[in-house]
Amino acid sequence: MSIVTAHEALRRGLTGIVRLDEPMRRHTTYRIGGPADLFIICDTVADVSHTLRVLAEEDIAYTVIGKGSNLLVADAGYRGAVIVLGRDFRRHSREGDDIRCGSGVILAGVVQDAYSKGLKGLEFAVGVPGTVGGALAMNAGTRDEWIGSMVEGVTVYTLDDGLLRLKGGEIEWGYRTSDVGKRGIVLEACLRTEAGDRAEIRRQMEQSFARRKATQPTGRPSAGSVFRNPEGDSAGRLIETLGAKGLRIGDAVVSDVHANFIVNAGNATAQDVTRLIEAIRSAVRDAYGIELETEIKFLGSFETA
Ligand SMILES: Cc1cc2nc3c(=O)[nH]c(=O)nc-3n(C[C@H](O)[C@H](O)[C@H](O)COP(=O)(O)OP(=O)(O)OC[C@H]3O[C@@H](n4cnc5c(N)ncnc54)[C@H](O)[C@@H]3O)c2cc1C
Repeated sequence: MSIVTAHEALRRGLTGIVRLDEPMRRHTTYRIGGPADLFIICDTVADVSHTLRVLAEEDIAYTVIGKGSNLLVADAGYRGAVIVLGRDFRRHSREGDDIRCGSGVILAGVVQDAYSKGLKGLEFAVGVPGTVGGALAMNAGTRDEWIGSMVEGVTVYTLDDGLLRLKGGEIEWGYRTSDVGKRGIVLEACLRTEAGDRAEIRRQMEQSFARRKATQPTGRPSAGSVFRNPEGDSAGRLIETLGAKGLRIGDAVVSDVHANFIVNAGNATAQDVTRLIEAIRSAVRDAYGIELETEIKFLGSFETA
């Protein structure tokens, strides 16, 4: 595998951008993460196709990310290519009562736009950071509502099949999971909304936002909920009963607003975060016999977590 050869081939063939040794702390809401060997912004479908061909030829692993708001990248970085969807994937438009969105579009922008056009259904997503692609891969949402339930169709890209159109019902949607990211790079989605009363949409959005502000440490770098809620319970509640709020390893701290958030209090490393994750997991296991699973995604090599 040659990163240098791939870099050269990508530099020559892309509309978008390719960089070597890109610090991933610039691309995660945790502001943590060492360098990715290659960092590629694909602006067009042709860019995606060219990138996947080059990476396959050079046998280089890759991952696609959105805004890195659910991601912990190792301190040593990622030995492979990180792909971000650029220009052509950062557009959205109304189609009747539906909204067609590129995967690189910021979800919050779609939510605001739906409100301004009097389209309801996305109010629950107010304040969920990240892109439409990330939201689809994670089936982002709340306890009661999630984006998968609104998906009319998705377009993914694979090296073998090119563009594939999947209906919402052909995708497996679970609690903070979906298989759409495993089917290919998610390029675009059509979200089903319906005409609604703007004042009522606004009321719902304000309610969601107020709930979020009161219960989440929005002012500090984090990647949202660290652990998935175990069946019938809440990870935050379990952690809080152990008096773990404020627990600190290095600059990684269990939030005193929400015990299922680990925040970066300054210069936290990925290792600080994974050590804290292990400490919490072990305490919950000892106290309740429950094995907490992480909701955040990991990129690169980790000793633990
Ligand atoms: C303060 C805060 C609050 C949060 N609140 C919530 C919440 O209420 N509900 C909730 O569900 N989440 C929440 N999150 C987590 C996070 O915002 C969501 O999971 C979000 O949808 C991730 O989007 P992203 O673009 O940042 O994805 P990333 O973090 O960049 O990626 C997440 C995963 O999606 C994959 N992926 C991204 N784009 C693509 C693509 N185009 N094709 C294929 N795979 C792709 C990545 O490989 C990775 O596995 C919160 C995070 C923060 C920081």
